[in-house]
Amino acid sequence: MKMCTPTRWLGARAVGSGRTSDCSCFCVTNFRNQPIITTTISATPQGTRRPFSVFCSYSSPFLAASSSSMPYDKELAAAKKAATLAARLCQKVQKALLQSDVHSKSDKSPVTVADYGSQALVSFVLERELPSEPFSLVAEEDSGDLRKESGQETLKRITELVNDTLASEESDRFTALTTEDVLRAIDNGKSEGGSIGRHWVLDPIDGTKGQVFSLLFSSLLPKSDIVFVRGDQYAIALGLLHEGKVVLGVLACPNLPLTSIGNNQQSSSNEVGCLFFAKVGDGAYMQSLNGSTHIKVHVTDTGNPEEASFFESFEAAHSSHDLSSSIAEKLGVKAPPVRIDSQAKYGALSRGDGAIYLRFPHKGYREKIWDHAAGSIVVTEAGGIVTDAAGNPLDFSKGKFLDVASGIIVTNQKLMPSLLRAVKEALNEKASSL
Ligand code: AMP
Ligand code: MG
Repeated sequence: MKMCTPTRWLGARAVGSGRTSDCSCFCVTNFRNQPIITTTISATPQGTRRPFSVFCSYSSPFLAASSSSMPYDKELAAAKKAATLAARLCQKVQKALLQSDVHSKSDKSPVTVADYGSQALVSFVLERELPSEPFSLVAEEDSGDLRKESGQETLKRITELVNDTLASEESDRFTALTTEDVLRAIDNGKSEGGSIGRHWVLDPIDGTKGQVFSLLFSSLLPKSDIVFVRGDQYAIALGLLHEGKVVLGVLACPNLPLTSIGNNQQSSSNEVGCLFFAKVGDGAYMQSLNGSTHIKVHVTDTGNPEEASFFESFEAAHSSHDLSSSIAEKLGVKAPPVRIDSQAKYGALSRGDGAIYLRFPHKGYREKIWDHAAGSIVVTEAGGIVTDAAGNPLDFSKGKFLDVASGIIVTNQKLMPSLLRAVKEALNEKASSL
């Protein structure tokens, strides 16, 4: 028996096209990874391809609940809520650090607490908001250290932080989590991902751990005192894979200005905190983390490298600045690089702050899916292209790792052909100089 794939859902009615004769009298359809819809279709002569329209009967509570909405609507709403709450949690940590007299940049424990807290919160909220779906989460952290005797104090602090955040943001439905609930929520992130079914993909705090909150003062100071913009960014990055493809993504960027951070652009507003989100086929959007109405975002449409600026990692250890500089020169980019921590780069690119993102990790590093899942769909839905250095699309279906050729490059449709040529040339030059 072959599968028919409905292309559109109208209540309990599936409209699509397929070889109806392949279905014999039973059509078994796997929609959103849900088993199973049975229906009767009248057969047509073998091989006839024509539209079909069928009424389906099913008992899945998930389908019943979602039959009136578009695919992934409910998941996107849950993801936005989860990422926003996690961003609030991180901002609480920032604020507490700011208010404490002693602030040691070398003390990484607040970041550790925020990191685990963010993962616990996202995991808890997704599972709560989507109760009828099997829940699989691929995430950066696990609870191993927190289960040790030495981790008990940290676990207590994480649990308090998660509960404080839920109590202040959702007072109407708050019930406190225990330390055991928090450990379980963190460990939900142990999934390996893959090409079958659905998997949430989370980086609870994407950015350079330890530096993430070193600039915690920045978002709270008057704009004139901010000397950075580009470093010190972090993101809560949450994506959803379905059958190995990214189908939605949310990037919460608590320190990112709402207005452009590109070269030659002076931000006119003090306000920071952006939430980017995208759903496959539906465009990319941005709103304030404080909950303003969203706007549709687009990558820049420039085809002129002289007008283009490029983003790269703030940390030279994460991406070769020498190689990106060589690529930029070959392409004819005039502006200096804009160095930004985290997937805030993808967010900023999606709204046209810059035109290119170059990422060339040093030899031996294997990219993880949580560092690119959410960001890549935000940029793709904003009209951009995300590929490896050879021009291949990123393959999120192989588990935790992304096996990419040499690096990852991102730009718009017009610049991609010349960018690929410049990358090839620069990589060849580098290889021949070794
Ligand atoms: P970025 O913000 O561009 O510096 O990238 C941050 C992400 O790079 C982190 O979330 C890490 O997962 C990842 N990362 C950690 N170590 C390395 C490395 N040696 N090379 C490349 N990326 C790394
Ligand atoms: Mg990361």
